[in-house]
Amino acid sequence: MPAARWARLSWNFPPRGRRLPATPAAAPTVCVTVDFDGLALWLQWDASLSPSRLGRGEFGGRVGMPRLLDLLAAEKVPSTVFVPGHTIEMFPDVCRRALAEGHELGHHGYLHKDPTTLSEAEERRELERGFTAFGDLLAVAPTGYRAPGGNLSARTIGLLAEHGLRYDASGVAHDYEPGYGRVGDTWTPDGPFTFGNQVDIVQFPTLTSMIDVPQMEFMLSPPLSGLHDYAKITAMWAAEFDWMAGHHPGGVLTLILHPSTAPKGARLGVVRDFIRHARDGGARFATLSQVANEWRQDHPPGSVLGN
Ligand SMILES: [Zn+2]
Repeated sequence: MPAARWARLSWNFPPRGRRLPATPAAAPTVCVTVDFDGLALWLQWDASLSPSRLGRGEFGGRVGMPRLLDLLAAEKVPSTVFVPGHTIEMFPDVCRRALAEGHELGHHGYLHKDPTTLSEAEERRELERGFTAFGDLLAVAPTGYRAPGGNLSARTIGLLAEHGLRYDASGVAHDYEPGYGRVGDTWTPDGPFTFGNQVDIVQFPTLTSMIDVPQMEFMLSPPLSGLHDYAKITAMWAAEFDWMAGHHPGGVLTLILHPSTAPKGARLGVVRDFIRHARDGGARFATLSQVANEWRQDHPPGSVLGN
């Protein structure tokens, strides 16, 4: 990308003489997010294309996603669904149902390829094929992105800004507070890490403890230990919400669900119980684009120190 283009997308970090604004007193926010990977994830994982493995993705599209939407409708909770273009092509009707019921759909690549394994041309093609599926089959343009596998490449944030996206949901540099994404970080294996420039991409943090797969999914290869006691998962998710409500009352807690995992069997009850616990604790539920817009208004570009 030409240097002039970068200049328009970024501003200097850290901003001199600016202080982090005080977080306004606010109800704790919970964002239920769904990574609707469909078969795309399993096609990446399983080179043997075993139908026994791929069936997990089929379950997610045909059974899991409708069950999850039923639960969210019953609980009156909006969600943000990140969906690869390949999954939109395979399961367009349930994607349209999600949109019709007030959920937001976000970009999740095309074939769920890990951006860190791609060349710049390949990463651009994944992004653009995803946009094409959104436009051709759903007639909407996503405003947010979550990297497949949660792995941003060093160039991803710049590509999101270049393509007009407004937020990323793959951050890990905080637990409850959004920030701005950066471009141009530099480091060497034995030297200092240098922070680059912030760009106008709101970045939401994620907590690995709030992801369903490590708790619930069992697989031999790649190894996932899962199958944890449901009461333990319920208690852990409740504890994360209670901690945020007590220590970071204006924070944002992001739950990450997968239709191939959380809606299978009695696990869905864990999700229902978490939603009810958070609601009883004063949570408001919102989509990520809603929170990104609010956060950007409260924290204008250039006003926030590093994430
Ligand atoms: Zn995914």
